[in-house]
Amino acid sequence: MKLDLHCHSHYSDGKHPANFLIERALENGVTHLAITDHDCTNVHEKLDGSQQLSIIKGVEISCTWQNRELHIVGLCIDTSASQLENLLARQQQKRRQRVQQIDAKLVEIGIQGLLPYMSSLPAVAQTRSHVADFLIQQQVCKTRKKVFKQYLNKNGKAYIDALWCSLEEAVEAIASAGGIAVLAHPGRYGLNRSKLSSLVDAFKEAGGDALECTYPSIAIEMQAHLVKLAIDKGIHISGGSDFHDAGAAWTDVGKFPWLPKSTLPFGVWHHPMWSATA
Ligand code: AMP
Ligand code: MN
Ligand code: MN
Ligand code: MN
Repeated sequence: MKLDLHCHSHYSDGKHPANFLIERALENGVTHLAITDHDCTNVHEKLDGSQQLSIIKGVEISCTWQNRELHIVGLCIDTSASQLENLLARQQQKRRQRVQQIDAKLVEIGIQGLLPYMSSLPAVAQTRSHVADFLIQQQVCKTRKKVFKQYLNKNGKAYIDALWCSLEEAVEAIASAGGIAVLAHPGRYGLNRSKLSSLVDAFKEAGGDALECTYPSIAIEMQAHLVKLAIDKGIHISGGSDFHDAGAAWTDVGKFPWLPKSTLPFGVWHHPMWSATA
């Protein structure tokens, strides 16, 4: 059993369709793959369960907690559950509005064409990552790092605040769809240990089920800390590649530091709500 419980298709800011993710997963020996697009589940409509590996229906919801942006992965969700569908429709609408506001800022500084570019993509959830690709294509910046820093991050020339749902709404919507809520990449929020502990308490209080304890480029100390936090707080352990793009050489489906064997009994695949195809 080899699991990858976090990756993206071209319906959000991944570069590839589901077939590509599945081929790549099979090549890399993955037996269980969760496709977890930002704020949309369209990829799962196209999958009929005939694949040679188990597909887990997932999503990654952007939300706000104490003025910070967090990501909550939902695993094993019923993609037709109405509360979740409605929440995702609102998030997609907010994403389209934000892109329009970013476009207005870009037009002011003489950069035209973002909206037709966005319409030409398969993306259902429009992200800043797509805007970054557009600005690189327009030769405004050479690298993604520069484009985020100069244009898309806070204080950037085209920054627009996102108004996501709350942590509680995200967890509740996942629960209402029969899913398992996982706090994604907790080490990437810049929180100190005491703040991280409060976050995990708030997440568990809201009904959260698991902590992502491994992902690419995580420091070994952070992984050990997250594992201990999950076990101490009595929630499950998850992990995944957060794969977006085969062109970004540092990521691949199924490639991330795996967890010590002793942690496997706490794996999210033992959660009572766990379900997968095949
Ligand atoms: P959004 O959800 O629209 O704010 O878009 C955020 C997405 O952009 C993330 O999911 C990442 O894939 C990507 N991203 C965010 N920050 C950076 C960065 N500094 N460099 C490269 N990609 C980034
Ligand atoms: Mn992304
Ligand atoms: Mn994320
Ligand atoms: Mn992700």
